[in-house]
Amino acid sequence: MSTIKETMQNIAIQQALNYIEGNPEENIPKLLELADKLLPSDWYGTQRKAIGKAVSEKNNWYQLILKLYELDPGVRKAFVQNFLFNASLKGSAIQYDNAEKHGCNVPWAILLDPTSACNLKCTGCWAAEYGNQLNLSLETMDSIIRQGKELGTYMYIYTGGEPLVRKKDLIKLCEMHPDCSFLSFTNGTLIDEDFCQEMLRVKNFVPAISLEGFAEANDSRRGQGVYEKVTKAMALLKEHKLPFGISTCYTSVNLDDVCSEEYFDLMIDSGALFVWFFHYMPVGNSAAMELLPSPEQREKMYHKIREYRNTKPIFTLDFQNDAEYVGGCIAGGRRYLHINAKGAVEPCVFIHYSNANIHDCSLLDALKSPIFMAYHDNQPFNENMLRPCPMLENPDCIRRMVKETGAVNTDYQDPESAEHLSTKCIPYAENWKATADKLWSCSHCGKCGK
Ligand code: SF4
Repeated sequence: MSTIKETMQNIAIQQALNYIEGNPEENIPKLLELADKLLPSDWYGTQRKAIGKAVSEKNNWYQLILKLYELDPGVRKAFVQNFLFNASLKGSAIQYDNAEKHGCNVPWAILLDPTSACNLKCTGCWAAEYGNQLNLSLETMDSIIRQGKELGTYMYIYTGGEPLVRKKDLIKLCEMHPDCSFLSFTNGTLIDEDFCQEMLRVKNFVPAISLEGFAEANDSRRGQGVYEKVTKAMALLKEHKLPFGISTCYTSVNLDDVCSEEYFDLMIDSGALFVWFFHYMPVGNSAAMELLPSPEQREKMYHKIREYRNTKPIFTLDFQNDAEYVGGCIAGGRRYLHINAKGAVEPCVFIHYSNANIHDCSLLDALKSPIFMAYHDNQPFNENMLRPCPMLENPDCIRRMVKETGAVNTDYQDPESAEHLSTKCIPYAENWKATADKLWSCSHCGKCGK
């Protein structure tokens, strides 16, 4: 029976893959019709409606869809097959079944640090603090991915360190797991002609290049000449019709620049398909608290992102202000987890507390470890999704969870106590509360239709 179901699914996928070639105006409605026939109405219903609207209105989202049609055809097919079908449709169903069966969270994505080494030294980056060069071996990363696929996880995201320091192994993993989507945060400086050719060959690797604003801001944090190298990398990717995105950390210093129309147009002109914004997180004993955005600045970011989402052809996510679209905090395996270069399995890339190391236990055991179960049992951490984080906006939660679970700090050099982390976040959390509550009730009153 399941073989018949699988065969039908494969036929439908092949038909869908045919529809992503040729004329988008004719084929996207056919693709949506196929999705309506095959999927339950509550599966990605909002997204399917939004795509239908984009095609009929020919709005900014339609322009973004057209950009997908400009990509290398093999890479585009791999994106649809691996990201949309394997990771998001088929994978989500398997993750859900396993979460029910095991009584724990099962993630959509696994973040891995292949290495703690980096070829740059950026101010405020956690990787810059890690003098030791630690690495996850190719065998360990392969094992994590194999275990992940058993649980339904087909999306793997590399953080670091600079993941492309290990680019040969990363390409090898793309070959070993051609059914997965791989995305890598990167400073972009190691992307060259050879690497573009490798990406075209394996088809399932997408870079997300870090950019902190315009040339001056970028180079003052990352080092002289880095902006120019990043610009060259983006031009190379665009020339090879390879998909890529940008990741930007916003702080009290660069916020005005990175939410300006000029910055958005620069990213779009460079060929980026998506931008992920990260709120500066004051993690570590020597975190620069003055880089935390003020409530007024964070509110500005909130409004600007929503404005550009309706006008600019780029897929934009602001992880701290967009938690409402994913039901709050996504860490602790609810949507993702993080494994550092030493093998420590952490709930979040910013939360360096753990009870499990992947060298000593299975992925499933790590998902059932005390701090992961504390996330599972306590999410969401706040009904107001503009205050999603157990650290930044609800600092008592991280203090309590770490204490109750006995999780230990996994920082390679200068471990910070949960008490210290929590205490220093309290003024920020209290300061942001009034603005967050105002924005939340405004966005839910429904009177003005915003
Ligand atoms: S722990 Fe905080 S930073 Fe991490 S995913 Fe949850 S809300 Fe985001």
